[in-house]
Amino acid sequence: MRDDNNHKEMLILRGEGVSDGVAFGNAFVFRAEQYVVNEEFFEPGNEDDFVQEWEDARHTAQVELDKVFSVLDNVSGEGRAILDVHKSILFDEEIEEMVETAIREEKVVPASAVSRVFDIFISIVGDSSDPLIAERAADLRDVRDRLLRILRGESSSDLSHLPENTILVANDLLPSDAAMLEKGKVAAIVNESGSATAHLAILARGYRIPTVLSVPKATVLINNGEHLIVDGHDGIVVVNPDEAIGSAYADKKSQFDKKTALENEYQDRKGLLRDGTTVHIGINIGDDREDPGYSSCDFVGLFRTEFLYMDSQQLPTEQQQFDVYRRVLELAGDKPVTLRTLDIGGDKQLPYMSLPEEMNPFLGKRALRLCFEEMDMFKTQLRAALRASVFGKLKIMFPMVASVDDVRHAKSVLEAVKKDLDDEGCPYDPHVPIGIMIEVPSIAAIADLVVTEVDFASIGTNDLCQYLCATDRDNAEIREYYQSFSPAMFRTLHSIVTAFNAAGKEISICGEMAADPLATKVLVGLGLRYLSMNSASTAKIKMELAQFTLEDAEDVASAVMFLKTQKDIVEYLSSV
Ligand code: PEP
Ligand code: MG
Repeated sequence: MRDDNNHKEMLILRGEGVSDGVAFGNAFVFRAEQYVVNEEFFEPGNEDDFVQEWEDARHTAQVELDKVFSVLDNVSGEGRAILDVHKSILFDEEIEEMVETAIREEKVVPASAVSRVFDIFISIVGDSSDPLIAERAADLRDVRDRLLRILRGESSSDLSHLPENTILVANDLLPSDAAMLEKGKVAAIVNESGSATAHLAILARGYRIPTVLSVPKATVLINNGEHLIVDGHDGIVVVNPDEAIGSAYADKKSQFDKKTALENEYQDRKGLLRDGTTVHIGINIGDDREDPGYSSCDFVGLFRTEFLYMDSQQLPTEQQQFDVYRRVLELAGDKPVTLRTLDIGGDKQLPYMSLPEEMNPFLGKRALRLCFEEMDMFKTQLRAALRASVFGKLKIMFPMVASVDDVRHAKSVLEAVKKDLDDEGCPYDPHVPIGIMIEVPSIAAIADLVVTEVDFASIGTNDLCQYLCATDRDNAEIREYYQSFSPAMFRTLHSIVTAFNAAGKEISICGEMAADPLATKVLVGLGLRYLSMNSASTAKIKMELAQFTLEDAEDVASAVMFLKTQKDIVEYLSSV
């Protein structure tokens, strides 16, 4: 029995920990309304009234979103970026036209028309095998449900005034609802759906709210007001904890809080080793939000431009791209911004671009290979980037480079674009540095040959590991074979870094390894002085850098070169 307040049964639930930290609090169970909309038709003659009803609903939705924006002032760049996406969906021309056509020509009532049209887009986007694209379906659902609620005459669910120490337990928390949460009041979030790439997870990390997603039946198994402990690191939710588990988690929480407070002291410092050696700290970004962490970094090591394409309903125009790139460069000020050209294809599809199915998409027409085929798309991006270059310190980087031929081909396209701009009298910076991602073993193996062809390179350890170990980076079933701490990885990194340092060319790392403190010492010891990562990790890495000297790091790197297995390396690095 679960209803006796004094002797409630303890229950441990598991999910995916997506935002670190431990929280204690009381459950507030929130079940989002599931709208079931049947096809309903009206008698011909009232078309204008029904179109007006749909337009009014959109207007109300816009007013609601503006209200959310005003709450978000000074709160979160991520929240604002997500709500921007919602507004662009609300005013998407294709959706507008399809809904209006359904009302006018098929005499479908507005709620049915909205449901029908949004469901088409949700199924296209949601079916993508790329979790990043599939997660965009959550935004479409969010906007659809807002419109359906308004069309039913219901007011919005208000999660903005929850009591202190609330742990929000939801079945399908919408990103816009999460954006409304009062930061200081919500101690943690537990949700039945979602994964680490969900917008909800991105928001939660931005807010630093411990969060566990994918907890099956959470809203059924947890009752309102029940005492909970949430472990956002290990993905554990304890319902009605007993004393022993409560005190174990109190210890874990105080350790985590101490560690975070210590790390935060490094937020605005430079990356310095104990002996004063400088390590430049970069951030990875995906859009033009106002403050992704520019103030606490030295450079933007990776601007993943594919998000711009993925958040759009069609290929972004040159002007749209130019506006975004210019804004990023202006916001970054005198800090260099490394714009990576489109990395799409393989498992990352664009819903509006039908690419042929491939047996091995990661080994297929991805990134540069696709750009060479879609030359107009590639040139449009390069034009937009070059035109924006006069507004800041731009660097251009090509992904998925597998040979010197690839580099030369990409550079020749860039030269052709420069010539067009010259002919048009369009200004750009002629000295934009040109670099490559080193993430394919065939280019890693000839780092000493390719170095003379480029101005800089950045190592993409996420892909380098999948290609080096022949292990799909997204397949959890074969996780044990994805060995980013393997001897092969460190030997490969060693030869790349040695070649670039010998040639006096900048070499950085922008894969996830840069954000892992266990790797920091060996990376520095191998000769890396530029580490670029998600901005939530910069303080942690700066703190790690301050713990050792260059001599310590070089000793560790030399020792790692002779260890034979990943297990040996991890054990060794954990001990030094
Ligand atoms: C990488 O492969 O390490 C990288 C940084 O690029 P992405 O994760 O976008 O493929
Ligand atoms: Mg990559």
